[in-house]
Formats: sequence, structure tokens, C-alpha cells
Amino acid sequence: MRHLDLRVGLAALFGIAFVSTASMAQDRQPEFPPPSIIEYTPRSTLVVPVHPVPRAKFPVVDFHGHPPRLSSPEAITGVITAMDSLNIQVMVQARPSSGERLTNQIEAVKAAGYEDRFVFFASLDLRNVEPGSGARIAAQLEADVAAGAVGIGEIGKGFGLRTQKADGSRLAMDDPELDVVWETAGRLGIPVFIHTGDPAEFFEPLDYENERWLEMALFRNRRFNDRSRFPSFDDLMAERDRLLAKHPNTTWVLAHLSWYANDLGRLGELFDRYPNVHAEAGAILYDLGRQPRSAREFFVKYQDRILFGKDSFRPNEYPYYWRVFETADEYFDYYRDYHAFWKLYGMDLPDEVLKKVYAGNAYRIIPRMP
Ligand SMILES: [Zn+2]
Repeated sequence: MRHLDLRVGLAALFGIAFVSTASMAQDRQPEFPPPSIIEYTPRSTLVVPVHPVPRAKFPVVDFHGHPPRLSSPEAITGVITAMDSLNIQVMVQARPSSGERLTNQIEAVKAAGYEDRFVFFASLDLRNVEPGSGARIAAQLEADVAAGAVGIGEIGKGFGLRTQKADGSRLAMDDPELDVVWETAGRLGIPVFIHTGDPAEFFEPLDYENERWLEMALFRNRRFNDRSRFPSFDDLMAERDRLLAKHPNTTWVLAHLSWYANDLGRLGELFDRYPNVHAEAGAILYDLGRQPRSAREFFVKYQDRILFGKDSFRPNEYPYYWRVFETADEYFDYYRDYHAFWKLYGMDLPDEVLKKVYAGNAYRIIPRMP
């Protein structure tokens, strides 16, 4: 619609007729039924140098780890084997836990002799918040940190979208009842790792101009475009920003580059506004890989604010990240077709930036890292 308006406007301005691709297709129809977007998977005929990177160039901290629950020796050694081959030095268990579930994992990792390879984040029980909840949650957090947790989160996207207060209303992220929790995190010197919203397209109409049509069509729970049930993407982010502004002494790490990887200027403004804010680069590789020059410039400029994280624990997917970050390879495949229908390009990051993004920033933000 926007394109059409522009075309009509330009045509009026210059007195010329624009032939849209749609009308060209009407003039000449394919002789065969066109394939669906799922069926059409053309082989690339491009021949260029190829540099697979099975192992990261420098040791890595996966800030957004979701390994299986680390409660048995088999589970632990399985993850360690993958970490060793990928050069992941430390995995943050960002599938958070609390109380006994937390201490069981910490004990199991110690018993297996790998306490220097895993750190654990605490969960917050944000269900049914009512007066008094903040103090209760903060007290549990203190206990979990005393037991060995070194951060909070990942706080899932339900916070802000679906989590309800005891009275049935939506729990706003900047609800004052929770202030004491965020202040406690600041006082304890632990980061708060928070995932807010989802790609902005998930909040838009599901039409043929939506970049994420396939993913939205595949997953009912990724459609947030019903304004009677969900806030808009911008309203949600504004609410999150009020939370960040209210707690300048708390260290925040925004998951998935705050879903601004397709608009890095917006993320840069956020970094400039809130010096206490960092961001983690998991599951948005498709957006970095389609703008390798802009992304490189951004990573160089904000090299102290960005952390590596992978999100889902699939060992064979990590090398795509190494390749995008480390090489200058061109037009290569991404691993998940419903995230992106395009190819990736390498950012060719300088070594000193790689070292910070891979591990240095995580060591600074988590003071109690082994
Ligand atoms: Zn996650």
C-alpha cells in the first residue's frame, strides 16, 4: 500500500507511468503453476570462497544458554562435549530456576567437576503479583543468589505480554510492586536478563508483505497483532524503557538485541540513552547476516555492550554464528527457513571485538563468573 502511494505520487510528480511488477506478472503468466514459498528452494549457482568455522576463534561464554536441565552426570557431560568442540568455555544456564531446582543443578555440576563451566541464573515467580509480592520475590532472589545464582533470567516474553496480576489485569513491566526486586538485583550486583516481545512483524497484520509470514502462519502463539489482547510493539518497548530508566543502578541485558537487529540505529539510541543496558545477540543472526557492513560498524561502535548468546541448544547451529561473526563469506545458508528466506554474509569482525562479544563483556557483567 505504501509502495503504491509512493508510485502514484511519483507518477503525478513526473507525469510518467510506473509499471508495477504485479501488472507485469499479469501481462505474462508463468506457463506452469508457481511453487509455494515452501516448495521453492533454488540451488545457488554462486561460486565463491567458503570458510566454515566449526570452532570459535576465541573462547566463548554463551550468555543465553538453554541446555537441558543439568541434574545428571550424563546430561552434564553431553553438554560439555559439545561445548569443548565449539570452544564454549562457559555456559549460562538461562533456563532459570529457584530453590531446590537451582541448588540441585549447582551441586550436580560440582559433583561432575565442571563448576568452572556453568553458571546459573535465578528465576522470579511473577505470577499473580499483588501488594507484598515484590518483597517476597526479592527475598527469594537473595536466597538464590546466596545459594550460587549469578544473575536473573531469562525473564521470558510472557512478562509484558501475558503475565497477569492477582486481579486478572496484565502485569506491566514497570509495575511499582516489582521495584524492590530490580533494586535488589542492582544492590547484589547481578545482571537482569530480560526478553521482551518478539520481532516487530509478529505485531503486524499477517499479509503477503509481512517478512515473517511463514513463521506466523506456522506458530499460532507468535501472532501478537490482535490489539484487543496485546499491546503494540512500540508500546511494549516504551513500557520496557520506563523500567530501564527507573533502575539506572541495575545492569540490564536485553535478549535478542531487543528485537532491534533489523533497526540497529534504534538499538544504538537505546544504548546511548541507558548506560546500564547491554544486549545479547541470540536468534537474530539472520538480521545481522543480511547487513554485514552496517552490523560490523555497529558491533565495532558498541563492542562493550553486546554479548554472544545462542538461545536454543543445538550444537550444529553455533558454527553459523562463528561464520557470520568471523568470516567475510558471501551468500550462504541460514539454518532456519521460517526465520528468513534470505542468505547470510559474514561481518568479518576484528579480533578485539570478537573477544569482547564472545566472552569479555560477559565476564565484566557477571562479576562472579568462574
Ligand atoms: Zn531464551
